[in-house]
Amino acid sequence: ITITPSQLQQQQIFLTPQQQHYLRRVLRLCEGDRLIVMDGLGKWWLAEIAGEQAQVLEELAVETELPIAITLMIALPKGSGFDDVVRSCTEMGVASVAPILSDRTLLNPSPQKLERWRRIAAEAAEQSERAFVPTILEPVTFSHAVTNVTATHSYICEARGEYDHLKNAITQISGEIAIAIGPEGGWTDRELEEAIACSFQPVSLGRRILRAVTAPLVALSLISAACEA
Ligand code: SAM
Repeated sequence: ITITPSQLQQQQIFLTPQQQHYLRRVLRLCEGDRLIVMDGLGKWWLAEIAGEQAQVLEELAVETELPIAITLMIALPKGSGFDDVVRSCTEMGVASVAPILSDRTLLNPSPQKLERWRRIAAEAAEQSERAFVPTILEPVTFSHAVTNVTATHSYICEARGEYDHLKNAITQISGEIAIAIGPEGGWTDRELEEAIACSFQPVSLGRRILRAVTAPLVALSLISAACEA
C-alpha cells in the first residue's frame, strides 16, 4: 500500500479506514501478516499488521528506477486513452507526465480527471514496485510546455518527414529527457516550429504511423533500452 508521510510515526503506520478495509476484507490479511508499504517518494518498508496500525519491521532497498528522469509531454488523447497512457508509462519508469493542450486537442479536463490520473499512477507504481510515483502535472498549453522545459535533451516525435530515428538520437543520454507526443491529428506546423525553436530535436519512431497512445510506449521502450543495463 501507499501511505502519506504523516501516516508514519516512530515506526508505526496509522492505516486509514480504506486501507484497513482493503487489507483485511479485500486481501484477507490478518493480525501479524506482513505487507509492503511505500511512500511514493523513494521509501519502502516491510511491515506487519497490528490492530489499526502496521508496525515497521525494516526498510527495504528498492532499485527499480531508471537512471535518467523522463518527462512525457503528451497531447491529451480523446476518450479514456490517457488512463492507459498513464498506467503503462508508469510501469515503464516515466518520472513525470505533462498533459498538453495542443492546437488540435483543446479539451480541458476536469480536476476530477487529474485526480483520477494521479490515482492510476500511484496504483501502477505500487504494482510495478517503483520507488517513486510519477508526477502527473496540471495540463498546460503546448507553448507553455515547450518554453518552460528544463530537460537536458528534448525530443518531439513527428510522424511525417525525414527525421532521425529516436534510437539513433539517444545513443549518449544522461540527465533529464523530455519527449513530446502529438494528438490523433498530429502536431501543426506552428507547433513543430515552436518546439524546434525551443531546442527540441524532431525524431521519428519508424515508418509506420502509431496511435497517439502507442507512440509513448515505443518512445519509452527505446529510451529505457538505451539507458538500462
Ligand atoms: N495523422 C497524424 C500525422 O500525420 O502526424 C498522425 C498522428 S499520430 C496518430 C499521433 C502522434 O504520435 C504523432 O503526432 C507523433 O507524435 C507520434 N507518432 C506516431 N507515429 C510516429 C512515428 N512513426 N514517428 C514519430 N512519431 C510518431
